[in-house]
Amino acid sequence: MILTFIGTRSSDPPGCEGHLLQSCLTVETDQVRLQIDCGEDHAHRLAQLAPDILLLTHGHDDHAGGLHPDPPCPVWAGEPTRNLLLQRGLTQVGLLHLGQPLVLKDLTVLPFEVEHSLRAPAIGFRIEAGSRAVIYLPDVAALGDGDSMLPGADLYIGDGTCFDSSLVRVEQGHPCGHAGIISQLAWSARTGIRQVIFSHCGPEICADRDRAGRTLAGLAARLGLHAAFALDGQTVNLPDRADRARPDSRTGSN
Ligand SMILES: [Zn+2]
Ligand SMILES: [Zn+2]
Repeated sequence: MILTFIGTRSSDPPGCEGHLLQSCLTVETDQVRLQIDCGEDHAHRLAQLAPDILLLTHGHDDHAGGLHPDPPCPVWAGEPTRNLLLQRGLTQVGLLHLGQPLVLKDLTVLPFEVEHSLRAPAIGFRIEAGSRAVIYLPDVAALGDGDSMLPGADLYIGDGTCFDSSLVRVEQGHPCGHAGIISQLAWSARTGIRQVIFSHCGPEICADRDRAGRTLAGLAARLGLHAAFALDGQTVNLPDRADRARPDSRTGSN
């Protein structure tokens, strides 16, 4: 399984070097090429990226705002996002059922609900190929019932908007916004995921990338984890070998 971080920026422009484009990931195996999310930044890249299928986490513009009514590949989304896209003029959007695996040849994707926004409810993905499993949660305020999806995964890819949880607010009893990096490291440690990469990097990260990277590495080390911020264009290879403890990174990370 080869992961490519097409973009790693949060919704806050302009980002910074390494985090210029809105968060977007591709996942490739021998048989299939999957893309997750297509924000406004990627409107003109979708045809070039040419995924076999595009899945959306939620309807915020930095994740779904780059879709025009006639996309060049099949698009699948959870029900609220699907309804939004149909209102925008897309005519065919596959429906992702929470907790039900979507099998794409040698790749299996399990969508699950997470807390993030009442207006644009978000889902996360557990992506499995061979012996490998990856969690992808670019926007998450709280795991909710998604907690059970993490154990056994090799890699947690999370919401790098900020370190603490000052961007989490409660609306109608639901946590909304962005969980802090510190909280997400704790989720990973608690569920036995030792490798963590943050995408969706916010202004706090961009203010001083080197310092943020050092802070992250220190926080992770205290929990026995290895963590880094993803960079735009970075590729991570997760070879299908159960005996490999850590993924290889081709381009390094900050
Ligand atoms: Zn976002
Ligand atoms: Zn969002």
